[in-house]
Order: sequence, then structure tokens, then C-alpha cells
Amino acid sequence: MTTPIIVGNWKMNGLSADSADRVKALLAGLASQRATGTEVVICPPFTQLALLAPQLKGSPVALGAQNCHMDEKGAHTGDIAPGMLTDLGVTHVILGHSERRRDHGEVDETVREKAVSAAKAGLTPVVCIGETEDQRQSGEAQDAIGWQIKGSLPDGFAGVVAYEPIWAIGTGLAATPDDIRTTVAFIRAELVRQFGESGKTLRILYGGSVDAGNAASILAIPDVAGALVGGASLKPDVFLSIVHAVP
Ligand code: 13P
Repeated sequence: MTTPIIVGNWKMNGLSADSADRVKALLAGLASQRATGTEVVICPPFTQLALLAPQLKGSPVALGAQNCHMDEKGAHTGDIAPGMLTDLGVTHVILGHSERRRDHGEVDETVREKAVSAAKAGLTPVVCIGETEDQRQSGEAQDAIGWQIKGSLPDGFAGVVAYEPIWAIGTGLAATPDDIRTTVAFIRAELVRQFGESGKTLRILYGGSVDAGNAASILAIPDVAGALVGGASLKPDVFLSIVHAVP
């Protein structure tokens, strides 16, 4: 039985006061209406991790980071090692988000190395893949996704795969349930081709303009194990309604 997972990616949003308030509201909402059986993860910016860890300890919400380095330590100014995250109680890490690929030149190989190190440190990697608008328009979406799967996921990968079509991120235009169903089926086939038996059970999430209005129809798609939520995860009531839309 697959455990559904809803991951909130706060991106570069959150100062001390509003982050603590957001978590307080989220925990209050989950206390009144538990989402039994669903894994809920929030990924605030690095600067908020140490602050929020005690607030989340023992709660139904897990703490994730938005990136990590592939090395355990060393001369990498401004970077954060996987072990520094687990040291704080972080359990998940988003890797290869399209914004990191775009802003920091991360390529599949970088993402794969990070996924290896993250898993070695005990983190669950949430590896993002997804096509650009141009690739979609030119009918190359599946090719692009296929290459990302081959390149970004290491041997023995046991994390989560997040399908985030880049054109759907932050645009308010989520992919249609039909498109998501087709692409997720393709991703599943690629995972099985690459990993064999274990590829059958890796969880696949959808991300890109998930909100209160479309969550139920997206989460009802066969083989979609959950969602990676950006903007809507900053609003506790909306994020809670997405968590509770898990069938
Ligand atoms: P939005 O939900 O804001 O479209 O962002 C999706 C995303 O990039 C989550 O990682």
C-alpha cells in the first residue's frame, strides 16, 4: 500500500515570525482534522530549519530542505551538507528543482550525485523532473523526462519522484488530469525499465499550480501518490485543504 505524501515547498519565502505562525496554523489544522496515513512535509528555507525543528518535533509534519550539497563537508562556501540537515532533524530534501537547474546550473549529474549523498545521510530525496514549455510544444516532453530520469536518479534510488512541468509552476495553469495521467504512466514505465521491481513502487508526485480547487482531481489520478506544492503551501488553510483532498 503506497503512503500518500504532500510536500510543501516554501521556496525563498519565510522570516522567523511568519514561518512560526504558518507552522502553528498548520499543526492546529491537523490536530482538529488529522490526515491519517498521509505523510506531510514542509520545506522552508534553510534559515528557518533550526527554528522550526523543535516546533515540528513529535508532530505529524516532517521537515524537509530545498537542496543540499553532494559532499559531506569541506570547502564549499555557502553550501549545506546532507549531514547538517539530518543533524537538525530534517528528513527530506528536494533535489533538482527546475528553479535550481535554471538559477544554479544544476544538471542531471549534479542531481544524481546529490541524491546519492542525501540517501547515504538518511534523507529521503524528492527528485524533480519535468519538461519546459518549448519541449512540450515541440512534442519532446517525454524524451526530456526520459533523459532526466536516466540522468538524475542513481542506482538503488529509493526516494520520491516529483513530476513538475516547468510551464505549470507558479502560473496558475496546472497540467490537466489527462496530461498528468499520461505522463505519470510514462514515468512509471521508465522507472520500471530502469529499476525493475523497485521501480514499480517508487512514489510519483505531481507539482505545478496545485491549489485547493484542483487538488482533489489531481490526487485522484491513478498512480499519483501526492503533490509537491509551491505557492499554495504558504497559506496554511489552502495547504490543509490539499492535504485533506488526498483520497
Ligand atoms: P507552484 O505550486 O507555486 O506552482 O510551485 C510548484 C513547485 O515548484 C513546487 O516545487
